[in-house]
Amino acid sequence: LVTKQSQEELLRVFSERKYTDNKGVSKDVSLIVISLSPQPTLSLAARYKLTPEEATHKLAGYFKSLGADLVLDMTIAEDLSLLEAQQEFLQRYQNQLADPSSKNMPMLASSCPGWVCYAEKTHGNFILPYISSSKSPQQVMGSLVKQYLSRSRELTPGEIYHVTVMPCYDKKLEASREDFYSEMLSCHDVDCVITAIELEQMLDVSSKSLNDITGAELDWPWGALGEAPPALRRHIGTGSGGYADHVFLYAAEQLFGESNAQLVYRNLRNPDFREVTLEKDGKEVLRFAVANGFRNIQNLVQKLKRGKSPYHYVEVMACPSGCLNGGAQVRPVTGESGRELVAQLEAMYSALPLAVPAESKLVRKLYAEWLDGKDSDKARAMLHTTYHAVEKSDIALNIKW
Ligand code: SF4
Repeated sequence: LVTKQSQEELLRVFSERKYTDNKGVSKDVSLIVISLSPQPTLSLAARYKLTPEEATHKLAGYFKSLGADLVLDMTIAEDLSLLEAQQEFLQRYQNQLADPSSKNMPMLASSCPGWVCYAEKTHGNFILPYISSSKSPQQVMGSLVKQYLSRSRELTPGEIYHVTVMPCYDKKLEASREDFYSEMLSCHDVDCVITAIELEQMLDVSSKSLNDITGAELDWPWGALGEAPPALRRHIGTGSGGYADHVFLYAAEQLFGESNAQLVYRNLRNPDFREVTLEKDGKEVLRFAVANGFRNIQNLVQKLKRGKSPYHYVEVMACPSGCLNGGAQVRPVTGESGRELVAQLEAMYSALPLAVPAESKLVRKLYAEWLDGKDSDKARAMLHTTYHAVEKSDIALNIKW
């Protein structure tokens, strides 16, 4: 699937409205759905000197001009991924208390495929029990589009061609995992991942600038819920999605009754490795970390192997500075440093309207109508996944950092 996730393939599907599935069978496409994540949208906003809102509308207009039927923002998938991760943490915390020799803690975030592939390839069975089973927002969106939206549109999942817009090439690897392919339906949850830099190239090749594109509104196919109109949103915490912050605040409240816990991070070896703690009655009860970049990840894994990790949870992201600095974000312009560009994207991200997953009416609707409630078998099937140790001889993927 990775080889099929190219700009050329995407343009071909737009023009022919057909794609070839894993078994080599040609399928007609009835609905092309584009899911926009915030990081590449901000990258393109910076590249074309647009506000995040303008860039969102221009991207929606661009995809519609190519033939997309729906352009969606991914807030709902991020909400569900965060809610599942925080619930999983509580369960793991309790499991660890019941069996201190178990491998429930630290829980390691799973939304970065660069990190997950590295863990599967390099640390095999040792590390996998620690990795959160909650799907990343991309793959939650995949389930939502192929399993829920298809039903409401009376289509088979294979009739939908689902494209996500992402900040790195590793998301293509994630989309192509067998875990996200249904043998029965003969389709993946995400058919094609396209990155910020590839979108810039597509515009360049057709001698267009995003500035010249007529904007369009994002679509909202989820029914009338009286929510704010669809828009790019942020979550509290880092521009990688805010996993550590969400899980920390939820755990502080649910486990220790601290509804006003403060998120005050302390930098450790470098700004890409920082931690936050919660004390109760003079005793440290929670210790969380954010570890970005390969050096810090290696350090974390070595600590774990020596039995010296002090953490309950770590938000692990392969890219230094996290997803806003993803490997397929648009490069800095001449005269601008990478650091300056990331700082600009961080400022843009922190100015976006805030999404609060627990308050989303759409979240409540989906748990009730689609997932048979929280903690149900269906919620686990749709929103969780598994990982696999890769034998060295099986390694065909070439992860680059
Ligand atoms: Fe992709 Fe980098 Fe984000 Fe990981 S940290 S998901 S590799 S952009």
